[in-house]
Amino acid sequence: MSTTIEIKDMITVGELAEKLMIPTTTLIAELFKNGVMVTVNERIDFETAQIIVEELKLDFELTKKSSDDALQSRKERKQSSAEGAVLENRPPVVAVMGHVDHGKTSLLDAIREADVAKGEAGGITQHISAYQIEVKGKKITFLDTPGHEAFAALREHGAQLTDVVIIVVAADDGIKPQTLEAIRFAKKAGVRIIVAINKMDKPEANPDRVKQQLSEHGLLIEEWGGDTVVVPVSAQTKVGIPELLDMVLLVADIEELKAEATVPARGLIIEAHMEQGRGPIAVALIEAGELKKGQFIVAGSSQGKVRSLETTQAETIDVAGASTPVVITGFRSLPEFGEEFYVVSTEKEARSAAEKTGFAQKESKTGVSSSSQLMRMINRNINVQELPVIIKADVKGSLTSVIDSLKTLENEEVAIKIVGSGVGAINENDLHLAATSNAIIYGFNVTIPAGIKQHASRDKIIVRLYQVIYELIDDAKEELGQLLAPEVVEKEFGRLVIKGVFKTTKTEVICGGEVTKGKITAPALARVVRNKDVIAEVEVMSVKRGPQEAKEVFEGDMCGLQLKTSSKVELEEGDRVEVFTRESITRTL
Ligand code: GDP
Repeated sequence: MSTTIEIKDMITVGELAEKLMIPTTTLIAELFKNGVMVTVNERIDFETAQIIVEELKLDFELTKKSSDDALQSRKERKQSSAEGAVLENRPPVVAVMGHVDHGKTSLLDAIREADVAKGEAGGITQHISAYQIEVKGKKITFLDTPGHEAFAALREHGAQLTDVVIIVVAADDGIKPQTLEAIRFAKKAGVRIIVAINKMDKPEANPDRVKQQLSEHGLLIEEWGGDTVVVPVSAQTKVGIPELLDMVLLVADIEELKAEATVPARGLIIEAHMEQGRGPIAVALIEAGELKKGQFIVAGSSQGKVRSLETTQAETIDVAGASTPVVITGFRSLPEFGEEFYVVSTEKEARSAAEKTGFAQKESKTGVSSSSQLMRMINRNINVQELPVIIKADVKGSLTSVIDSLKTLENEEVAIKIVGSGVGAINENDLHLAATSNAIIYGFNVTIPAGIKQHASRDKIIVRLYQVIYELIDDAKEELGQLLAPEVVEKEFGRLVIKGVFKTTKTEVICGGEVTKGKITAPALARVVRNKDVIAEVEVMSVKRGPQEAKEVFEGDMCGLQLKTSSKVELEEGDRVEVFTRESITRTL
């Protein structure tokens, strides 16, 4: 039986060595061997520690002590607030997922338009990561994320934001890989699934096939006795949208979604960007409590005093409650996407909380090696080809999504090397960095000023701008694919058995034999096989039928061969010559 050791999420190398009762140098050496360069006081994460213990074949089992500071404090806050807190109903938070081009964006737009309470507010349409609508006097919050990548990124930040996932399936296309991914995702997250069969207006629409496919993948629909709600819709003609929204409300009712109302507000930052004249702008989704103007707020290492609150439709408000997306100004620095925010009572408290987090983050950043990094290093092929890129995006949330999605393209052979990233338009600095690192600049929802564009084309710096995340990812995929070494394919097209050897020099063999399979041509590549062993690789320089040179000689014929060899090879009667072509085929990722 192995001994179990409890360690935290992060542990210093020194502490781990002590717990494992091995010299620090042994541990450092093993980490080093695995590509993790650390010193005794640096910290490694739990998964890395676990891998190293396995590599060292130590008789220990590591278990994680759940003392992730952020989580812990979050739990504590939740617990302390739960006592005596008043629970109130809250709107459901809905995410839309599905295969590319099945109509996620169109559906989100159609739903937004269906909002009767919206009025003329807003005006400027800009990318907002969430919106809230009102149907029959009830509110629904939609995460307006570009596909599932952003949602996945949010989830990776530990956010269980969503109550319902609408999976969009095009009625004319059926279930596709990303649909399955979305189903798996939603199931894993334990959220309610509603399937919207979209594009019902198309003549090729075949909803029954979709239902069939759904049941094949473990989603049994209601009309067949299961519990998956399916709503046929058309984002284009808006048919079925009201029914879809009714279903969302129904599912939410069943779930009895509640949140504590009388506690200090807390939630998650789902977007953050700088705005000229207004400073840091954060969009947050409130999880519990009520956020009010003038309150002190902390999100990771950022803090501030709420200067203004707006709905994502740009209406000024004074208070925002649970499940509401809200635009906050007043942070002193840009908070991180996916960070939890919470309200504290005093400015002093806000400052010290933010400082503490900032310090912890800095500390962990210097010494951290993540397990995935380590796994990649362990499995590393020395010849990993890297694609250097610089990523610019409109907001922090999409920047994280782009980077996370790009990372999913990597494999043992190719990797994305992010030499720079940031929020905002392409600038001189980016060009300079791209020139020195030979990187491609990818811009997501950002612009390039005319002067910079000119400069880029003069210096032949590649800048590619995208508005759609998967198009950007596809482009990078193609670039990465070009780094893949081509696959070499050999195809045998003829065999000959040697009947006599006439001349052998250092570089040449003249022999004769019978073609036993296919045909022999010249010039061609060939290998010589004796008793199943390949004894030489040669080139067929010429083929003769009798005294005459022949282009090709077929099965059953006798012929003479002039073979070019790289060193002296003694061929014998009975050896087999196999002629083949060798092609390199470009691979795609
Ligand atoms: P996404 O990639 O899932 O966000 O898909 P989009 O919303 O961008 O839609 C992809 C394409 O399908 C666009 O050309 C849309 O106009 C079209 N589309 C979306 N919904 C419908 C629909 O209900 N009916 C028809 N006929 N076309 C649709």
